[in-house]
Amino acid sequence: MEIFLSDIPDEGMELDGEFPASIFDLPADDTIRPDGSVHYEATIYAFEEVITLHGRLKGPFQLQCGACLDYFPYEADFPDWSTELDREPNQQSFDLAVVVREDFLLNLPAHPRCDELVEGRVCPKADLVEDFSDDEEPSAGEERPNIWGALDEWKQ
Ligand SMILES: [Zn+2]
Repeated sequence: MEIFLSDIPDEGMELDGEFPASIFDLPADDTIRPDGSVHYEATIYAFEEVITLHGRLKGPFQLQCGACLDYFPYEADFPDWSTELDREPNQQSFDLAVVVREDFLLNLPAHPRCDELVEGRVCPKADLVEDFSDDEEPSAGEERPNIWGALDEWKQ
């Protein structure tokens, strides 16, 4: 959905609507599966060097659990969404669908666990992963991102 910068007034442009799941165009085996249309509400400003968007993104997804590899439903809701695009010289327009797509993908949990995100769910592989992650306190920094980062490297 093409937004022309010349159409954006100084006081900002308010838009809301939906995009079909097809904007994501992900491979079938991706850990993220869009599960329906996604909704956006955006206030858009065009400044001399940047275009800013802020508002809310919501949409249904199926995410793959990092432990048991099952897909589970996840209702994404980013009520404080904001993003900034660098403005290219002579740029006339931008594609809102591309921005919305990218920001969903960036904001969805990177290493989702079904038992953390689905109430009452017991992950069938939780024990395996917990043995590993509870082994000892990590020496420095965050715990989970490091552990999952190492797992990701092994998979490659
Ligand atoms: Zn799981």
